[in-house]
Amino acid sequence: METQKPQDYALTELPAEPAAEPGCAECLSLVVARRNARSSGDHSAASDRNVELRHHQAAAH
Ligand SMILES: [Zn+2]
Repeated sequence: METQKPQDYALTELPAEPAAEPGCAECLSLVVARRNARSSGDHSAASDRNVELRHHQAAAH
């Protein structure tokens, strides 16, 4: 059920969001969870995922 949106759609709301490191499953799962939270209107959960992503990237990359 993917809609055809431009790839930079999410960048218009929060430019400073961390992106997944290529090949890292943990980054990917956090980015997917963030997108799911946002698409269901749960912006506080989405911002929690950003916090987790930053912590993970600081520790693991
Ligand atoms: Zn990672």
